[in-house]
Amino acid sequence: MNQKIRVRFAPSPTGPLHIGGVRTALYNYLFAKKHGGSMILRIEDTDQTRFVPGAEDYIVEAFRWLNIPFDEGVQTGGAYAPYKQSERKPLYKQYIEELIKKGAAYYAFDTAEELENLRKEYESRKETFIYNAVSRKTLNNSLNLPESAVQEKLASGAPYTIRFKMPENKEISMKDIIRGDITVHSNTLDDKILFKSDGMPTYHLANIVDDHLMEISHVIRGEEWLPSMPLHVLLYEAFEWDAPQFAHLPLLLRPDGNGKLSKRDGDRLGFPVFPLEWTDPKTEEKAHGYREDGYLSEAVINMLALLGWNPGTDKEIFSMEELIEAFSLERVGKSGSKFDVEKAKWFNQQYLRAYDNSTLAQMLTPILEYHQLAGYISESYVEKVVALIKDRVNFVSDFWEQGRFFFLRPESYDPQIIKKRWKDGIGGRIIILSIALDQLHDWDAPIIKDAITEFIQKGELNMGQMMNCLRLLLVGAATGPDLADIMAVLGKMETLLRIREGIKVIEAQQV
Ligand code: GLU
Repeated sequence: MNQKIRVRFAPSPTGPLHIGGVRTALYNYLFAKKHGGSMILRIEDTDQTRFVPGAEDYIVEAFRWLNIPFDEGVQTGGAYAPYKQSERKPLYKQYIEELIKKGAAYYAFDTAEELENLRKEYESRKETFIYNAVSRKTLNNSLNLPESAVQEKLASGAPYTIRFKMPENKEISMKDIIRGDITVHSNTLDDKILFKSDGMPTYHLANIVDDHLMEISHVIRGEEWLPSMPLHVLLYEAFEWDAPQFAHLPLLLRPDGNGKLSKRDGDRLGFPVFPLEWTDPKTEEKAHGYREDGYLSEAVINMLALLGWNPGTDKEIFSMEELIEAFSLERVGKSGSKFDVEKAKWFNQQYLRAYDNSTLAQMLTPILEYHQLAGYISESYVEKVVALIKDRVNFVSDFWEQGRFFFLRPESYDPQIIKKRWKDGIGGRIIILSIALDQLHDWDAPIIKDAITEFIQKGELNMGQMMNCLRLLLVGAATGPDLADIMAVLGKMETLLRIREGIKVIEAQQV
């Protein structure tokens, strides 16, 4: 490719960024970096009615967390600044005037009320009102009014919109990198509003003008924008500008494949659909985020990369560099990709396991701090704990869920196990075992295991019962990794102490 590659991610700040939007940004980023191009963040905030405070900062923060840097954009700056459409407002006027001059757009003075009445009237006839090449001929617009009347209306400050004059009977032929050749007949399209009398452009106009001025070479965006593509292509034609190349990405689907992944699906099925936690500024309702739910950003990136693109091999774990190297739009599928929660967890587990124990121990620090334990526990101890349970966890928080007994003595003992196993003088036998354990010079898992096995075999004791009760004393429940491993990590003193204390508590409950 000789052309300079410039792509943009252009969200509207209407709320938290959907994970599908994150994937769109990721594909833009991978494509740009693969071709030595630039990635731009443009905020499309022309629709003031949908503006949500905090959304822009949320978007910027999300990409910071995800390690997707922008070469240019809001809060970064760049040669094509400003990158926020509301700050570019004065600029769009000259372009809409150019379209009017060229006869590609016209003033429409129909009020919202008049249009609503028309809509109702059509509905009562079981028809749909569309402002298009047919209906525009009888409506209140500059195509039908004499020039003097138009000028009069404008001078009097009458509210208006400026609409695109959709050509009649035109085959619009387009090319999409993912979907191939597409042809749409112009008679199926309406005269979209491009500009409003408050001086604000609509999405369509601002988007095209900015993509042109920012020299965007490729528009890579979600499939929901495919229906806008004919209008956009016609706008480029009307301006006599070269259009960028288009690539419309397939949707992210619900896990069952029925429809687009929504926030509600996430709530219902227990997974986040947003990168970061989000609190709605109006309702104060909280929505889950991948970051706060304990996902690693690398895992989220890896998972999203493979939801729609396939590398053509079985390889599943990709670093960002590897993704950049392997990515191509040609390998993005046409059909939607089903979101898979288990796969998301699997990716997280893979990345978590790959960390060395010392890094994992550091990741656990905030949790230990939260439980006011951080100052009491050595790093090497935490490292031993994470080494032992890292193969069983999906999230950093699982280290605590599954390993809290390494940090806190049991506060209670599972009554079910007591009822089932605590009988026939078991307490006394475990005391004798603990004396044998106390004699051990070396305290490591194989030695402990041999000592326990020998004790049980010699005494012809019930292995299951002994092990269950020992575990109960150390953990408080029937869970956790191998018992000798637990003892080795806890250390001799703590093990013997828990055994004695536990027996005391349980036997006191027995009488
Ligand atoms: N502002 C649009 C959005 O919110 C951008 C669509 C496009 O990329 O053209 O998704």
